[in-house]
Amino acid sequence: MVGMIPLAIPDLNGNEARYLQECVQSTFVSSVGAFVDRFEGLVAEAAGCAGAVAVSSGTAALHAALTAVGVGRDDLVIMPSYTFIATANAVAQCGATPWLMDVEPVGWGIDPEMTQQALSQECERVDGVLRRRACGRRVAAVLPVQPLGNPCRMEAVTAVARGFELPVISDAAAALGATRHGKPVGELGADLTCFSFNGNKTVTCGGGGAVAGQDAELLARVKHLTTTARVGPGYDHDVVGFNYRMTNLQAAVGCAQMERLAQLVGAKRAIHARYVAAFADISPELRPFAQASGSEGAWWFSGIMLEGDTQRLARLRDDLRAAGVDARPFWKPMHLQTPYLDAPRSAMAVSDAIWQGVLPLPSSTGLRAQQQQQVIDALLQAL
Ligand SMILES: *Cc1c(COP(=O)(O)O)cnc(C)c1O
Repeated sequence: MVGMIPLAIPDLNGNEARYLQECVQSTFVSSVGAFVDRFEGLVAEAAGCAGAVAVSSGTAALHAALTAVGVGRDDLVIMPSYTFIATANAVAQCGATPWLMDVEPVGWGIDPEMTQQALSQECERVDGVLRRRACGRRVAAVLPVQPLGNPCRMEAVTAVARGFELPVISDAAAALGATRHGKPVGELGADLTCFSFNGNKTVTCGGGGAVAGQDAELLARVKHLTTTARVGPGYDHDVVGFNYRMTNLQAAVGCAQMERLAQLVGAKRAIHARYVAAFADISPELRPFAQASGSEGAWWFSGIMLEGDTQRLARLRDDLRAAGVDARPFWKPMHLQTPYLDAPRSAMAVSDAIWQGVLPLPSSTGLRAQQQQQVIDALLQAL
């Protein structure tokens, strides 16, 4: 529908066009260039990390990070069921299988207690290798997601992982600018933290990703893997690498976006605060999205949870769209996705409830207050 208030559109009103033009004029449009270097520096700084490697997508970032910490064929990687499918796909691309855990009712992060229980009750150490008894597979890593760009209880998650000597890869796809207990999202204990700069994310390069971290050696391995694993000046390659480089063109847009990170995240937070103010006390069957206590999220998306059933939610979406407000389904949990139906998993009460009641609301950084009021009015009317 023409004129519909969109869910999330990019905000390219800074230096994006200027930097792109500079990039074209320099002829450095490919995967080496000043914008890539600058973008990596800006991402590392914002993430609170020693360094970052820019790559072609968030999925590529996750695949490279998991590979860099040794995840491989027939391994298991512990991750939450409630996420975007890219998280699970990156695990599968390593030849590994996701071991799906339910998420917490507030903030939707992976449940650390459930993870602790699964590791201590369902696994055993055989010759120093942690294996899940039922299938004999090695558990190779823990992959928490920062849902909606909001940090989960990372200190609890990393404590569990460290207790079993497992590396932690953070899927912080939309969480650049978020903090937890005042610490930026790359400083929350993960070995590597992965970002996406896809078109619908708060900070976009059109498409792109990054892996950030504190350990220079580990980051060098990520860089090596994502650039065809070439050694020396000749055509020698020491492992199976990937062509996951970000181009200078993408990074040019990314640099302009990063200059406005605080403004973009500030706009997202203000949008969320207005939805909370509008919907906090309407009815017990409707709750605004919430984040884990102690987190200061980047609020990629705000929205509401509705008690009821999927049909009621579908009707509500239809009513909103008829009123000129874009309304779409949101993530379906991994344990319900065809490629992952056989993946080992915990009970999924919370993930199922989210899937049945989640309604993201328009959250573009450029959303005007009057448009947001239109969204709020349309929703109240439809209820
Ligand atoms: C966007 C997103 C990704 C994937 O990023 P791409 O750049 O689209 O590959 C992964 N995980 C989560 C949680 C995301 O939101």
